[in-house]
Amino acid sequence: MTPRPRPSSPRPFPVLTVYVTAGTARPDWCHVCKAYTRFTGDVLLLTPEGVSVVGSYAGCEICDEPEEHRG
Ligand SMILES: [Zn+2]
Repeated sequence: MTPRPRPSSPRPFPVLTVYVTAGTARPDWCHVCKAYTRFTGDVLLLTPEGVSVVGSYAGCEICDEPEEHRG
C-alpha cells in the first residue's frame, strides 16, 4: 500500500491589511473666520510594516474649504 501524495491545496491569497486613516486633527487658525475653527491633520497609512504619513488634510468647519496637499 503506497501512501497517496496529498493533493496540494492552493495557497490562500496573501491578505494585505492596509488601512488609511486620518490622524488626530489639530486646531488651526483660520484667517477668514479669525478664529481657531480650522483643523489640520495627517493622513496615515497603516501597514504591517508600520505607519507612514502619506498626506495631510485641512479644512475649516465654518468655511468648509478642504485642502489637500501631499508632502
Ligand atoms: Zn474659516
